[in-house]
Amino acid sequence: MGTVAIVRYSEIALKGRNRSTFEQQLVKNIRSVLPESRVTRRPGRIIVRGDEEVGETVRSRLAKIFGIQNFSVAEATDYDIENIARLSIKTAKEHLQSGRSSFKVSTKREFKKFPLKSMELSAMIGERVLKALPQLRVDVKNPDFIIGIEVRSDGVFVFPEKLQGPGGLPTGVSGKGVLLLSGGIDSPVAGYLAMKRGISLLAVHFSSPPYTGVRSLNKVRDLARIMASYSENGTVELLNIAFTDCQIAVKKAVPDKLSLVIQRRIMMRVASRVAESEKAEVLVTGENVGQVASQTLKNMAVIDEVSPLLVIRPLICFDKLETIELARKIGTYDTSALPYEDSCTVFIPAEPATGASRAGVKDAENSLNVDELVSIALGNLERETITEDGVS
Ligand code: ATP
Ligand code: MG
Repeated sequence: MGTVAIVRYSEIALKGRNRSTFEQQLVKNIRSVLPESRVTRRPGRIIVRGDEEVGETVRSRLAKIFGIQNFSVAEATDYDIENIARLSIKTAKEHLQSGRSSFKVSTKREFKKFPLKSMELSAMIGERVLKALPQLRVDVKNPDFIIGIEVRSDGVFVFPEKLQGPGGLPTGVSGKGVLLLSGGIDSPVAGYLAMKRGISLLAVHFSSPPYTGVRSLNKVRDLARIMASYSENGTVELLNIAFTDCQIAVKKAVPDKLSLVIQRRIMMRVASRVAESEKAEVLVTGENVGQVASQTLKNMAVIDEVSPLLVIRPLICFDKLETIELARKIGTYDTSALPYEDSCTVFIPAEPATGASRAGVKDAENSLNVDELVSIALGNLERETITEDGVS
């Protein structure tokens, strides 16, 4: 009957009345990134089938879909004990060939009409495996491998292992957000965490041509491409906004030490306008409480003030090393670490204020036509759809 993937989710199962919405979103997301597969809902599980065996592509894709706790690539059969035993022995043989020697059988019986209880089936299959492969031994406490069996209303599934999914909630169930994506280490990680909590993202990037070149923009595209591999449909919309005119205007008109906070406030206003027109309800940044001027509590409060939307900062209390570790794990670190110029560093003042006062900032902004700057930035917006494989 070939192999199928049995997809398990846990957090979703706890969500009471919302459970069905979450399951539907997860099924939709799996279908969207694996269009060649047949995806069906079963009680507490999602089954993914292809025309052939479940291969590496499906495995690596499932490992990145938020909401999936773990999954197994299983062989499916009927309720005949002989067939279940044959598949279990085949699985055990493969483990044995990889040098593993102790095992246990773990059965889940969802289909209660099956005549043997879980423990009884586990014991029976364990014996059959030992008989066929006497080199093996049973170890229920700390086995080298587990033969998994699920008895379900649509058949019996035998599998050699559980593979990790990324956990979290299916992207899309928590609504839509705008990620402020720089070329740095933090913002892609913040985006990953927001998607993991079910927020579907589009990315806004501010560039400073000609101070930032095509290499910088390509770096951001690469980061968006990696993010697309975790998104609900394998794509991320990237909105690139040339910000140089605004930065120059700010630099000319406001005291040097306030220019960073004021630049950020304009970015927030622009991002909020984008969010409004995209029906997004939250802004996501990679900021973190730290020593850098743009990221003190005082400055963040002054920056937030201009956004009518909720602003979330998933990394707010991370240590840099924790962020780096996660960036490595999700695959963005090497790209983020490339040393290309970044739009903010080009216009960063020598001694930015670490505790800008609301009154001082508002006063400085009076010498600018903020609305006009926001319109200029929005007029420069260029949109592209980034797919896992590149720009489409
Ligand atoms: P990152 O590594 O994400 O760049 P950082 O620690 O370097 O963060 P900053 O450069 O102060 O910190 O930026 C703080 C946050 O502001 C970023 O995480 C990002 O969300 C947003 N941001 C900064 N620069 C840009 C930009 N050019 N385009 C879009 N968002 C930006
Ligand atoms: Mg940065």
